[in-house]
Amino acid sequence: MQIRLFRQTRTWLALWYAVVMGLILTLCGFVVYEVIVDAYLVSIKRELESVTGTLHNVIEPNLKQPGRIEPIFQQVLLNTCVIESGCPTQTIFGHKQRTLAEDDIISTIHRDKQYYIRFIDSSGRLIAVVGFLPDKLPPTVQTKVWQTVKDPQGNRYNQKSLPLHTQDNQVWGYIQVGRSLKELDNRLAALKLVLALGLPITVLLVGGSSWWLAGLAMRRIDRSYKQMQQFTSDASHELRTPLTAINATVETVLDTEHLSLAEARDTLASIQRQNYRLAELVGDLLLLSRLDQQELTTQWEPCCLNILINDLIEEFSALASAASLQLTSSVLCHQPLYVMGDEDQLLRLLSNLIANAIKYTRAGGYVTVILKRNNGHAVIEVQDTGIGIALGEQKRIFNRFYRVNSDRSRTTGGSGLGLAIATAIVQAHGGSLHVQSEVGKGSTFIVQLPLTVTPLLNSNR
Ligand code: ADP
Repeated sequence: MQIRLFRQTRTWLALWYAVVMGLILTLCGFVVYEVIVDAYLVSIKRELESVTGTLHNVIEPNLKQPGRIEPIFQQVLLNTCVIESGCPTQTIFGHKQRTLAEDDIISTIHRDKQYYIRFIDSSGRLIAVVGFLPDKLPPTVQTKVWQTVKDPQGNRYNQKSLPLHTQDNQVWGYIQVGRSLKELDNRLAALKLVLALGLPITVLLVGGSSWWLAGLAMRRIDRSYKQMQQFTSDASHELRTPLTAINATVETVLDTEHLSLAEARDTLASIQRQNYRLAELVGDLLLLSRLDQQELTTQWEPCCLNILINDLIEEFSALASAASLQLTSSVLCHQPLYVMGDEDQLLRLLSNLIANAIKYTRAGGYVTVILKRNNGHAVIEVQDTGIGIALGEQKRIFNRFYRVNSDRSRTTGGSGLGLAIATAIVQAHGGSLHVQSEVGKGSTFIVQLPLTVTPLLNSNR
């Protein structure tokens, strides 16, 4: 069920990602295409404008009669095909005196086979052509300055038309300069092909990589989901034990016909013990959940570790002597060490470590709490000469509900949350907790907490 859900989510994620990326890329491709077309057309139009303007300026002052070809045409434009005299009869006249810029433009027209120039009289009749043969393009004489025309083969031309006037200001006809768009169309066709092929390939790649990335993300979610499931099942299991015990006790009492006062007291004491265990467990779970949500970081204040350790040694001395252990502390720094934090949580952290050290050390052993300073950190070591922890277990003991030997630890009363709570508290205070241990020789739990920048010297608590 869970695997199917993750697989479905992964597929959906990959699909949606590919679709969204596909849309974005299509839009980008469209914009890029339009920008490129526009850039080409602008440069072509600019070229056409300058060619048409130059020819117009050179030819117009020499026009005498509407629609009549003057020698200036041949002087300016070599190889002019005059329709009436029958193409391709062409006369080459000597060059007219032209400016350098005019010379440049006109020689470009002759050199570049992409241009054509047409002269059309006011009734729309083609008079002369330079470049293309007259039957190739329809003599479209329009008052429209800019036109895009097509020849019978489907080739496109961008064309500019300007009216020409005679010296006595009569309409002579029109000059039309056109430029082939074949090269542009070829390039745009190639660009379209690249976009049309590239887009699906890119979308496929995006889909594939997002499938892979979603898999990576899912793996982490899957891991924490499993941890959550494990946690829930462990918590239920732990809660069920005292509840079952209470239930069994109550059932036994209900089955008993005559209950003496002593028996009733025993029963209530047993129920109270299980209740206490339940309350403790629920309290631990609540604390862990609050630490996870970082809800308990509001009441931070400077806490003096020297005082905390002294208080704890005093508090645990009775328990230690009951277990025939020697509990001592050793402060290896001259000044009191302060950390910013929640005093109750810090007490909980250290008492969990000290309680464990006492729990897992045999009679006659030693438990020592050492306080020192190292690189801007306060270091608290809880050393014991107890049973020790095997190397393979040393990482796992910090997991929630983990106990090295469940049966043994259960008899000592632990639920396996002590070190998990300690770790959560240390992390909430920006510190670290790790263990060094050897089986049969003892363990040292080392807590590092960042010291406050300006330690308060007020130690009379
Ligand atoms: P518990 O409540 O069972 O003590 P903890 O989270 O405090 O749970 O500890 C997890 C396990 O780590 C314990 O079951 C115990 O086996 C091991 N452990 C913790 N502290 C010590 C220690 N000082 N010496 C040996 N084993 C320890």
